[in-house]
Amino acid sequence: MRISPEQLALVDRQVKRILDSGNYYSKIYREAGIREVKTEEDFLRIPFTDKADLRNAYPLGIQAVPDEQVVRIHSSSGTTGKPVIIPYTARDVSDWATMFARCYEIAGVTAKDRIQITPGYGLWTAGIGFQAGCEKLGAMAIPMGPGNTEKQLQMMIDLGSTVLCATSSYALLLAEEINRRGLRDKIRLKKGIIGSERWSDAKRNYIARELGIELYDIYGLTEIYGPGIGINCPEQTGMHLFDDYLYTEIINPQTGEVLPDGEEGEIVITTLVKEGAPLLRFRTHDLSRILPGDCPCGRREPRLDTIRGRSDDMFKVHGVNMFPSQVEEILGMVDGVSSEYKIDIAHDDSNNRDIIMVTAEADGRVDFSRTAETIRQLFKSRMNVTPKVAIVSLNTLPRSEKKTQRVFDHRGD
Ligand code: ZN
Repeated sequence: MRISPEQLALVDRQVKRILDSGNYYSKIYREAGIREVKTEEDFLRIPFTDKADLRNAYPLGIQAVPDEQVVRIHSSSGTTGKPVIIPYTARDVSDWATMFARCYEIAGVTAKDRIQITPGYGLWTAGIGFQAGCEKLGAMAIPMGPGNTEKQLQMMIDLGSTVLCATSSYALLLAEEINRRGLRDKIRLKKGIIGSERWSDAKRNYIARELGIELYDIYGLTEIYGPGIGINCPEQTGMHLFDDYLYTEIINPQTGEVLPDGEEGEIVITTLVKEGAPLLRFRTHDLSRILPGDCPCGRREPRLDTIRGRSDDMFKVHGVNMFPSQVEEILGMVDGVSSEYKIDIAHDDSNNRDIIMVTAEADGRVDFSRTAETIRQLFKSRMNVTPKVAIVSLNTLPRSEKKTQRVFDHRGD
């Protein structure tokens, strides 16, 4: 989707604001000779930025307004090194809540709903974003935060929560618990709004079925406000992204080349009106594509396809690029297999070949060796690699509320 004249004018304003602020990026743009953005060519000359830049600018080097205009900071931890600090102005906080309220509306949530919010509160953007959007919409927020399943279920039943906001892992855990305790008739949930990590259809179908709810994927990242910058509509054809606040590009993660709509690559986002920490052409490392054409729902915003993974999660076997989401897709096609798995990659020096070993869980209804063979064949036909497959019984592999490491690369150990 090409940048519109209105969006270009907003980027131009952002560049001038950044240059005037003297912040971390003002130096980079001055060195790159970026002074104004009048045309698409000007825009494409703006260098990409990355989480590494935000770490270099720690703690507040990217702040582009005077201190008296900053009302809050958020922080994303990341897996390595220093955290990233993002300052917000009152307008940033309000714009974020406006976008988030829009997300709820697109999902059909109204002021009459009771929204149980289970993502964490604090430095993270998660809980507080769900909360601010809920209050802007006028619905009742039930600000639970994560964990304490006992209390979650009690509140869900006693208050008759109608909307559950959660990560897919936590929604799954609650669904399993509700199923195990036979509480299905006591809950009144209608919709689930799930933070957009990549998750398998098997997991999605289980949660939707066990809780009897419609599921919506919400997109966002701390560097760009937080969750709530896009969501899928009831047509379930990709996530609408709010292009009055953001301009989205898809690039080839290796070369940086901008890709046309429909092609898969890394999502790059430019904030059009963000004040506290404006980011231009920020590389998210999330992989997806912009879906061409219009959504049947009539909304005109660009739509992002399901997040397929992270460019940094990609692994290579025999020179073939693979993503955890592809593994999940395959496992989702096999009867009796859970969505948990472990992959070990090693190198067989004597034959100079990579060896990939997949460990998956299956329940007692299915024949383990036949299931292993089915998985082996699916890998062969769909990904062009032939793994060794081990099947273990259900609940053997580790689970966590946060991101679980599933791919272990032993080559060069
Ligand atoms: Zn739509």
